[in-house]
Amino acid sequence: MRFDLITIFPEFFTGPLEHGILRRAREAGLVEVRAQDLREFTKDRHRTVDDRPFGGGAGMVLKPEPLFEAVETLLGHSVGDAARKTPPDANTAIVLMSAAGKLFRQETARRYSQLQRIILVCGRYEGVDERVAEHLATEEISIGDFVLSGGELPAMLVIDAVTRLLPGALGNEASSQDESFGGASEVEAPPTLQLPSSTEPPPSSKSHVLLDYPHYTRPADFRGWKVPEVLIGGNHAEVAKWRRAAALEKTHRNRPDLLG
Ligand code: SAH
Repeated sequence: MRFDLITIFPEFFTGPLEHGILRRAREAGLVEVRAQDLREFTKDRHRTVDDRPFGGGAGMVLKPEPLFEAVETLLGHSVGDAARKTPPDANTAIVLMSAAGKLFRQETARRYSQLQRIILVCGRYEGVDERVAEHLATEEISIGDFVLSGGELPAMLVIDAVTRLLPGALGNEASSQDESFGGASEVEAPPTLQLPSSTEPPPSSKSHVLLDYPHYTRPADFRGWKVPEVLIGGNHAEVAKWRRAAALEKTHRNRPDLLG
């Protein structure tokens, strides 16, 4: 899997890529991550990446030319113009990070993990010329209902969520199934239980709706707060039953929206 970041701050990513699972996945050759400096794709002396918005208003907007140039250089071909479009390769996603995009979810991460290449376009300032969303990006993605100052952190978050789903990236293969939104945290859907409306087609009508169950480790008694007895007993069926109920209770408490 190859990730290309298009950004005005290529140095931004150095730290996050150097730790834990991401570091190991890169060292093992599971992923390759390259940060491209948007200014390298400008043609003027001042290496201009932004300009004032048509129609007025505050702030600056990232210009389309360097962004198209950067993506087309990476792809090795033009994406065309209004008269003649080249359809994108099905194994490649060109993702524009945007507070106004569709919500990034675990389902999105799973879908991306099947691709060969993901180009992440990081906005700054007031955002990005809309023609990038309309004619260059294959999707426009938001990481949540809040506004950040740039697309770099959102892009990093996408890389992290996707990388840990790649076979071999986690020490224990089962662990990406057995967690919040994972394939194993399914619950039988009672008639009233529905998936939240989403940008992703649900893989089945009853999956991915529970958060992870609570985890405990030693000591069994910490300041008088005891680990639930059933987890210490060693009865696997009882443990599974408890975990399922606890996951349901926690989902109900923290994310009732997931239960409809
Ligand atoms: N004017 C825009 C916000 C621009 S913030 C609006 O109101 O929607 C500058 C850049 O930060 C954006 O272009 C985008 O790349 C990034 N960004 C900010 N919030 C984001 C979010 N929730 N998800 C993804 N990217 C985000």
